[in-house]
Amino acid sequence: MGVYNLAVIKGDGIGPEIVGEALKVLDRIGNKFGHEFNCTEVLAGGCAIDSEGECLPEKTVEVCKKSDAVILGAVGGPKWDNLEGGKRPERALLGLREKLGLFANLRPAIIHNALSDASPIKKEIVGDSLDILIVRELTGGIYFGDRGYREGKYGVEAYDTEAYSEREIRRIAKTAFEAAMSRNKRLTSVDKANVLESSRFWRKIVIEVSKEYPEVELDHMYVDNAAMQLIRNPKHFDVIVTSNIFGDILSDEASQITGSIGMLPSASLGEGSFGMYEPIHGSAPDIAGKGTANPIATILSMAMMLRYSFKLNKEAEAIENAVAKALDSGSRTLDLAGDGSPYVSTEEMGRIIVENI
Ligand code: NAD
Repeated sequence: MGVYNLAVIKGDGIGPEIVGEALKVLDRIGNKFGHEFNCTEVLAGGCAIDSEGECLPEKTVEVCKKSDAVILGAVGGPKWDNLEGGKRPERALLGLREKLGLFANLRPAIIHNALSDASPIKKEIVGDSLDILIVRELTGGIYFGDRGYREGKYGVEAYDTEAYSEREIRRIAKTAFEAAMSRNKRLTSVDKANVLESSRFWRKIVIEVSKEYPEVELDHMYVDNAAMQLIRNPKHFDVIVTSNIFGDILSDEASQITGSIGMLPSASLGEGSFGMYEPIHGSAPDIAGKGTANPIATILSMAMMLRYSFKLNKEAEAIENAVAKALDSGSRTLDLAGDGSPYVSTEEMGRIIVENI
């Protein structure tokens, strides 16, 4: 029996609908396994701009910091699109990552048996199912490095810098090895060590950290080869760890292999067990309020929270199995149903998954 304090940010668009279903699933897990999940709802994104005048109110950050984990729907929408960059709802995401010290982004790319036809990759390559976890460094590298303009050989040039410290590499490597330990104990570190000094350093530190995890089988792959292998032989991968820029690109590529954006959860982790859990998709304003949003990505984010923040593997599996059962029995939200095929509503999908737990 555990007691867990959660900050809940429903956000904009379909956020409240999908988070609503995810909380029902969590409630069921609490009842079945004897845990207490205390949820405090706070605002971020467009709804926070409307009611508090800023996308990430201080109170939201305070509540998140005092919580064991944060659940986030999605933020943004056309209503706030003409605000300038720093004031837009999406700015809240960067603020949350920075203020909560979230340096690792975990994105699974999963193909469920019942949906394997939705993958653009041939069935003989993906098989009946696929389950890869990409661990991306989130707060370092070229996206945060020194940048600017300078006088170069051919006149003015622009530059950005890729730099990683030992501390940054060590902590993301540890996160990835820990994740591999809770899965199939295989880790691929992706870099460009044949060209980049920062990648050679990355590889050296990852090898050092691997000594602490003798059970995990480690291999290294250049990023160009990894991009190719994700399409040619995705089954090679269990967990992938990589830098901010390579992870940005590879995780989007991997999400496409799975066929549907409404299915994919994510976790952003900091030091210790704290994390923020959210679907990879946005606020889908085109379908908000219609009851057709797929809640599965958000529901699977709850499974990630139970596994990575609370080490409740049995409970996480109960959610994943309930989702698989719903899909196996033919339940489909509109995004998963073929043209003209029958589909269930957001709420109905939530109810079916709860009943399967
Ligand atoms: P989106 O992911 O919101 O939508 C892309 C397409 O996928 C749309 O057709 C949408 O209807 C569909 N879709 C997304 N999630 C779905 C679900 N659960 N079920 C069924 N269909 C789903 O991306 P977008 O349209 O580029 O962005 C919309 C807004 O969301 C923008 O304001 C954007 O800035 C914001 N956004 C927020 C986040 C976040 O909060 N993490 C991430 C990406 C985009």
